[in-house]
Amino acid sequence: MSLANGRQNITVLGSTGSIGVSTLDVIRRHPDRYRVYALCAHSQIDKLFAQCREFQPAFAVVRDQSLATDLAGRCRAAGLSTEVRSGVAALVELAAAPEVDAVMAAIVGAAGLEPTLAAAVAGKKVLLANKEALVMAGELFMQAVRQHGATLLPVDSEHNAIFQSLPADFARGLDACGVRRILLTASGGPFRNMPLSDFAQVTPEQACAHPNWVMGRKISVDSATMMNKGLEVIEARWLFAAAPEQIEVVVHPQSVMHSAVQYKDGSVLAQLGKPDMRTPIAYALAWPERIDAGVEPLDLFAVGRLDFAPPDLQRFRCLQLAYDVLHSGGTAPAILNAANEVAVAAFLDRQLPFTGIAQLNEAVLHSVPAGPEGSLADVLAADAAARRCAEKMIQERRFP
Ligand code: NAD
Ligand code: MG
Repeated sequence: MSLANGRQNITVLGSTGSIGVSTLDVIRRHPDRYRVYALCAHSQIDKLFAQCREFQPAFAVVRDQSLATDLAGRCRAAGLSTEVRSGVAALVELAAAPEVDAVMAAIVGAAGLEPTLAAAVAGKKVLLANKEALVMAGELFMQAVRQHGATLLPVDSEHNAIFQSLPADFARGLDACGVRRILLTASGGPFRNMPLSDFAQVTPEQACAHPNWVMGRKISVDSATMMNKGLEVIEARWLFAAAPEQIEVVVHPQSVMHSAVQYKDGSVLAQLGKPDMRTPIAYALAWPERIDAGVEPLDLFAVGRLDFAPPDLQRFRCLQLAYDVLHSGGTAPAILNAANEVAVAAFLDRQLPFTGIAQLNEAVLHSVPAGPEGSLADVLAADAAARRCAEKMIQERRFP
């Protein structure tokens, strides 16, 4: 680690998003521990500029050159020495730069894959929020982590809870550690109890209004279809080398128990807390230490009760599709992920009804053949083919 002045240099990929903002809030509380090395975002440059002013990173990255020129001008006028770059190559470079100790991978979707993988290949401490990267290229990603000695710390609240509930040497195998099952909790989203006949009328506003978590729009819609839980099953499969049968989804509407591990001796170890992403973010940042996250202590008396139920796979078809692609293997998860990104964007754009998301995902899986997950190029080709197929199906109004 470079640990300049005893502080860790952090690159935040997706700094203007929900996870990015929470990450900066934790970092803000610990200026003695962390220094922001690079802030990377898509196009919200007002927000990014305000972050640059506060954290004075060495680098900032935006999607295209015209935005970079605009931001660079503002930084210069404000007397900042932040150097502004643009494009994927800059993301990759700043995720892997020798000065960087840890990378918060919080870009949403497939766009996060390349820089997140670059951080792993550079042997960084990777704080992984971007589950889509692992869904698309789990095998390649985990190989890169092992081969290059990267430290992978899950930020997704469920996987962070599982990580906290497993022994430190879980990499030697779940069986060897006496694990029977992983209990992956799910809130069930906003439509857990809505009559199925009302699903077709669901609006983007309703889908984005999650009962327990405030999140970006894509993951909010994924939570409403439970595709998010499906992606998380795949994420858990790779992070913990778990067989699909070892991962059980448990609907827990209060979102207080963030997941658990059931052992062969009958013990169940769980992590509980308020539904606030600053807890897993602070855990990943400080691991193996613990630091203040700015999160209020959990009041169990206020929580009162915890409920648990099995998921309804008829209602939440996307969750079943995730188990299906895990069994198919190869590029099937990348195909499902890509179809889902197109479907969610179309739903948010009011081009596809809510029920069309699962239908489109399933239709794309049937149309685009999966191959082996040989290389990054294979994964990106499968991703592109699935996107083309999904867009064509929407254009042809096969899902009115
Ligand atoms: P968000 O939409 O709020 O933010 C996404 C961020 O990614 C923004 O900063 C945006 O500028 C950036 N971005 C998007 N496309 C980009 C591109 N092409 N190049 C560079 N930057 C780009 O999303 P979020 O809710 O913060 O989620 C981020 C990731 O974390 C997702 O993968 C999500 O599944 C995961 N996650 C989020 C939460 C949560 O509570 N929000 C919880 C668990 C996991
Ligand atoms: Mg989660």
